[in-house]
Amino acid sequence: MKKKKKKTWIPFLVILLLIGGGIIFWILNQKQPTTNNDDTKQPNDSSSPYSKEEQEKLGQLDNAQEKLDYFNMDYLDRYLAYQEQNPTLAIEDVITRVNIGLDQPYYTNTKESPYLNQIYLLSNKYLFMPSDYVPDGLEAISSDCARSGMQLVSEARQQFEALCKQAKEDGYTIRAMSSYRSYDYQDNLYQRYVAQDGVEEADTYSARPGFSEHQTGLVVDVDNNKIDYTDFEQTDEFEWMQDHAHEFGFILRYPKGKEDITGYTYEAWHYRYVGEDIATYIHEHDITFDEYYVRFIENKK
Ligand SMILES: [Zn+2]
Repeated sequence: MKKKKKKTWIPFLVILLLIGGGIIFWILNQKQPTTNNDDTKQPNDSSSPYSKEEQEKLGQLDNAQEKLDYFNMDYLDRYLAYQEQNPTLAIEDVITRVNIGLDQPYYTNTKESPYLNQIYLLSNKYLFMPSDYVPDGLEAISSDCARSGMQLVSEARQQFEALCKQAKEDGYTIRAMSSYRSYDYQDNLYQRYVAQDGVEEADTYSARPGFSEHQTGLVVDVDNNKIDYTDFEQTDEFEWMQDHAHEFGFILRYPKGKEDITGYTYEAWHYRYVGEDIATYIHEHDITFDEYYVRFIENKK
């Protein structure tokens, strides 16, 4: 009787051991794939999507990709080269300027500007508008606020007239002396300057056709109807614009001290409509529209 009882327990023990062993074997097998996965990538940090080489480069840029959502991995080597050339520049500005295209000469790597017919359309020396682009909804600006024949896109036209009216109530005269210009008009203008001064010189003060912001229909050059527009900075009207233009959605597009970002010499008379929200942000943060665009609009709209 005793011998028989002992023998019935042995098979149960063997089965239990087999099941236990099986479970341990299964667990070890599950873990294995993750430990010897992808030897080509960094063995020290398996959670990073970047190669060891990329991680080193990103480290030199203070891992800006973690903080700046406009960081573009395609430009990694350009960021590093630009940082080397401009060691005092903040990382944020290195990323922003390379995204604009400023690490390369003007009019290189140009592409057609996206967002045609939007108030946040960007036009600069890297982004052009097609030769047949005429913005939708061009309207004549009231003769109270402009020379004859001046046109802007509807929303900008209304806001400019509101600005002009408010200025008048405050005792100032703001007049549009230039606004929308067609591709052909700019082409004639530019070719005339080139014939006069050569390409290199002409490029410093005139936009090439397709690259003029005036083609957007969102731009006015203003004067006070008394002195030449190039002296606008000397007028009380300029001071008024400094304080109020953003309230109507306009910005000074080519400010003093920002020439290396906008690509244009300072123009106290050239105002661009971008809408009140963008204009107020730019006014308060003292940045250019080019910077605003790569940080908040490009690849996000
Ligand atoms: Zn202008």
